[in-house]
Parts: sequence; C-alpha cells; structure tokens
Amino acid sequence: MIPVWAQVCYVVAAVCFILALKGLASPKSARRGNLLGAFGALLAVVVTFFAYDIDNLGWILLAVAVGAVPGALGARRVAMTAMPQLVALFNGVGGGAAALVAILELRHAELLSDGALVASAFTILIGSVSFAGSAVTFLKLQELMTGRPITFPGGPFVFGGVLVAALGLGVWTVATGSVTLAIILALVGLLAGVLLVLPVGGADVPIVISLLNAFTGLAVAAGGYVLENALLLVAGTLVGASGTILTRAMARAMGRSVSSILFGAFKGGSTAGGGEASDRPVRSAGPDDVAIMLAYARRVIVVPGYGLAVAQAQHTIRELVDLLEKRGVEVGYAIHPVAGRMPGHMNVLLAEANVPYEQLLEMDTANGQLRTADVALVVGANDVVNPAARTSPGSPIYGMPILDADHAGAIVFLKRSMRPGFAGIENELLFDPKTTLLFGDAKASLTALVTALKSL
Ligand code: NDP
Repeated sequence: MIPVWAQVCYVVAAVCFILALKGLASPKSARRGNLLGAFGALLAVVVTFFAYDIDNLGWILLAVAVGAVPGALGARRVAMTAMPQLVALFNGVGGGAAALVAILELRHAELLSDGALVASAFTILIGSVSFAGSAVTFLKLQELMTGRPITFPGGPFVFGGVLVAALGLGVWTVATGSVTLAIILALVGLLAGVLLVLPVGGADVPIVISLLNAFTGLAVAAGGYVLENALLLVAGTLVGASGTILTRAMARAMGRSVSSILFGAFKGGSTAGGGEASDRPVRSAGPDDVAIMLAYARRVIVVPGYGLAVAQAQHTIRELVDLLEKRGVEVGYAIHPVAGRMPGHMNVLLAEANVPYEQLLEMDTANGQLRTADVALVVGANDVVNPAARTSPGSPIYGMPILDADHAGAIVFLKRSMRPGFAGIENELLFDPKTTLLFGDAKASLTALVTALKSL
C-alpha cells in the first residue's frame, strides 16, 4: 500500500501535468508549462524511491543514469529541425518500457485480477507496437532509411494476419498468465509496429509519431492499472488523449484522414520526399531589385517555411521586417499549421527571435490579407504555398489547405535551388509570371536584403 503522503505527492504531480498541458497551449506560457510538467515528473520519480521498499537500488540508479544522461545530452544538442525524430525516440522507449514492466508483472500472474491480466496483455501489445513503430519513424526521419512508403504485394493481408495473431495471443496470455506467451505477444507487437509504419510516406511520418505517442499513453495508462498506480493512470491517459487530439488536428491541417495516412499507400496514394529539380525557365533577381520591391510595397506578407528553420534565419527575417516597418510598410507573418517539420514549428522559431505574437497571422486571416498584399515573401517554404493542393487531384498534397501566396500582387521566393519541398512535387508557383526567385541560403539572402534596404 502506498503511504498517504506519497499519494498526496502523486496528486500534486498529476495536477502539475494538467497545468503543464494548459501552459503549453500558448507560446507565452509554454516554457512555464514545460517546467511544471518536468517538476511533476521529477517529484513522482523521487517520491517513488521513498514510498516503497525498493530492492536492487544500485541497479535502479544505474538504469536511471543510463537513461537520463544520453536523454539530457540528446535533448540539449538536438537541432530544432530534428525534434520530431527525438520525440519519436523518446516516445518509443516509453512504450517499450511499459511493455517490459507488464511482462515482468506477469511473473506474479496468480496475484493479478482478471482486469489486470487484460490490461497487462494490452500494455504488452500496444507498448511493443509503439516501440517498433517509433523506431521505424526515427529511421525514416533521420534518413537512415528511405522516406518513401514501403509496400509489398499482399501487405494489407500480412498486416491483418499479424493483428489477428496478436489478438489470439493476447487472449491466450490473459487465460494462462504465461510469461513465455507474453514475450511472443511482444514480438508479434513489434512486427505489427514495423508493418504499420513502413507504408507511411515521409511527409506523413510526423503524424504517425503523434499517433504512436497516443498509443504509448494508452499502454502506460493500462500499466498504471496493473500496478495500481493512479499517477501512471492519469499521466498515461493525458498522453493518450492529447496525442489523439494532436493526431486529428495534424491530419485535418494536412486535409486527410488518419486512415488514409496509415493505409493510403496500399491504394497507391501516400506522400513521399526526394523529387527532382525542374529545368524550366524562371525569373530570378538579385537582392537589390528585391529590396526595392519590398521597400516600395504597402503590404508585405512573409510566408516562413522549413528552409527558414534550416538556415536559422529567424533573427535576420525579424531585422528585415523591422526595417520595412520603419519605412511604413505593413508586414505580417502567414503561419501555415504544417509549415516546417512539426506542429507549431514556425511559432517556436519566430518566438526565438521575439517576433511579436500579434504579427503571426493564422491561415484564414493570412489568406484574407494575401489578397491585398503587394508582395508575398516566401522564405524557405514550398509545399504550403503550392497551388497543386487546390488544382491537381492526383497530387499527394491535394486537399491540403494552403496559404494563397499566388493571390498577392507579386511573389518572391527565397530558396537555394529549384528542388521541390518535402512532398517531392514541383511547385507551379515558381514558374508564375508574378514570381521572382532570389536564389541562395535564406540567411545569406536575407542578410543581403537587409544591407540593400539600409542603403536605399
Ligand atoms: P517544404 O519542405 O515544402 O519546402 C522547404 C523549402 O525550403 C524547399 O523548397 C527548400 O528548397 C527550401 N530550403 C531548404 N533549406 C533552405 C535554406 N537553407 N535556405 C533557403 N531555402 C531552403 O517546407 P514547407 O514548410 O513549405 O512545408 C512543410 C512540409 O512538411 C509539408 O509538406 C508538410 O506537409 C510536411 N509536414 C509538416 C508537418 C508539421 O507538423 N509541420 C507534419 C507533417 C508533414 P531548396 O532545397 O531549393 O533550398
């Protein structure tokens, strides 16, 4: 039985988790929310050491160090653009840990209630799916394997067969409480995780990470039920619920359903990266000409994208915008929900440069303003302004709501080459007579524009 003081601490930790989620809802309070959540987790871990009679303390502390040291170093060093794969990795080990704990609990199967046995089998299966699926998403995003959907003949039937086998094994594990069966169930779960993620194409992978995150939450919640630990139950449920909401929100922003993301490739229609550059003629200009266009505009809408993050040019774009505003130009940033490589990527990036939150325009507002803007300044974005999403039913991004940069009086693209964006498809807007390209790394181009503007 957990002592009352420890239960009170667990309630405090649970409240911290809930307030953390609330804090994360706005960029202004996100840092505080994050710290509060971390404090809740630390409190829960420390209390656990004092609340129970713990054997093998030395081994446990060693395991904590083995997890905490690379975790902390990895999180400190990771580039913002590699955040999704780090989240995938952390999420995967969470699911794997929950599955291992549930397998170990089955050593005392005779002491477990029927409900706890069912919850154990559930945790083992879902935790293993999450572990293996997250590992594959990590490999895809880190480009250690192809980002394209991987399908093979009969794939859906193999996947279906594995699911049926997992269900049967799950029932058998519950009926017998056998650890050996539980291990086989975990292995089948690993296979299901791999088969689930292989057919998902590059641009959809971050959505699958969010889905697997929800899976891990459910596995942990069920684990909390087995261990009679209310805090695990609360924390797992929060992760499961928020992961599900995030998955749906991301899928909606991409204009597709979760099932089409998971199973679209079987029908031949998922997205993939790595397309070729086009050699059709385009209009390009130097920084001096573009600076003049911007300086004499009435309204400029900046469309930031993944390339702005890669170039780490958030401070330079802010400097450029400040200069334009001083000249009386009205400027706003159009934020597409899936610009960059993770939800809220552009918000986080621009917040780093202290861009006032009021200047960030959500898609509907931005599209209204783009109609009357003189210039749409597209900085390292591509797919989120690609009109193929509106006009080409065969395109992998068809149906995704886009920023209507093509409605502005003129469009300026800052990019390094004619290579396509993450979805790997050509962008007709690059060839539009209203479009001018300023080739180069976004930071170098923006610095050149700042210099040119200052000399006007
Ligand atoms: P894109 O990937 O479409 O385009 C990025 C552009 O940036 C490329 O055209 C590239 O062209 C350019 N670029 C890259 N590096 C630099 C640099 N150093 N300097 C200047 N330009 C550079 O990005 P978007 O933000 O428009 O779209 C995001 C994509 O990611 C969408 O397909 C979206 O669906 C997908 N996605 C995003 C998710 C999210 O949560 N944010 C989730 C799921 C998917 P070049 O190489 O020629 O420089």
